[in-house]
Amino acid sequence: MPHSRTPRLRRALLAAALTLLALATAAGCGRNGSPPVKSPKAGELPHYPVAENFRLPDSPTWRRAEARGHLVVGAKEDQPYLGERDPATGTYSGFDIEIAKMMSAALGFDPATTRFKTIASANRETALQNGQIDFYVGTYTINALRKKQVGFAGPYYLAGQGLLVRTDEKDIHGPQDLAGKRVCSAAGSTPAQRIAADYPQAILVTYDTYSVCVDNLLTYQVDAVTTDDAILLGYAAKAPDELKVVGKPFSEEPYGIGVPRDDTALRAALNDALVAAERDGYWKRAYEATLGLSGVPAPQPPPVDRYPAG
Ligand code: GLU
Repeated sequence: MPHSRTPRLRRALLAAALTLLALATAAGCGRNGSPPVKSPKAGELPHYPVAENFRLPDSPTWRRAEARGHLVVGAKEDQPYLGERDPATGTYSGFDIEIAKMMSAALGFDPATTRFKTIASANRETALQNGQIDFYVGTYTINALRKKQVGFAGPYYLAGQGLLVRTDEKDIHGPQDLAGKRVCSAAGSTPAQRIAADYPQAILVTYDTYSVCVDNLLTYQVDAVTTDDAILLGYAAKAPDELKVVGKPFSEEPYGIGVPRDDTALRAALNDALVAAERDGYWKRAYEATLGLSGVPAPQPPPVDRYPAG
């Protein structure tokens, strides 16, 4: 380790700094007189009209949810502005959560009844295959390999892989600078796979979640965190004195709604619902009240891909 303080002391100091940061954030104030950290405001979130007399008898997933009385949706709980769970109330918020609520309303379920379940990147396919969840909305990249195991509605957003470093980092400006550096990502994620395949000189470290990677970055255990820019911008926005996103996105990550592979009726209904939400302005309003708070204006959503079953 190139640092003079002992790891234990350094860790204790950083833990104290992080506690202060958390307290300041909870109190709604920024550090060093910076503006307050923005968080989604419930009052600004759109209300999605619940489809009346909606039925989808060809979808086994929909029939099971109907019998149960509510939907169970897989999500993330530690991704600022995308999918975040308030530990005090258990409430989930963020852009992905809004997409899930839009979809719930379109399927005839009051979004207030939708139950969210946290599923890590590496466990999404299994959760959909086992019927633990009805669908999944959580920064889930559509790709050919995953399509062999699950189905995807969408895409509803286009992200790209990026790098998060500490503000005191001088050497890392893009993926070309990662040789010999410790780079953290989530197990089972496309960014982790890309580092292993395309940047083999980087030292890849994986955990279940990106928030553990971020803690490791703040305590000098790793040199960079890599995943989608949309996720990294959220962490940077919450700790602007400590963290920064560097370089340009170096991949395309189209976000889809994961569904059981053979439930083509559900996939088609969700695609219809996404097209309607984008047309009717709900998508943009949801974006502006959530992910837009990390500083990027609403982009044009990518066109949905109604790929053939098979
Ligand atoms: N979008 C990427 C993926 O699906 C990274 C984000 C995540 O792990 O959810 O693997």
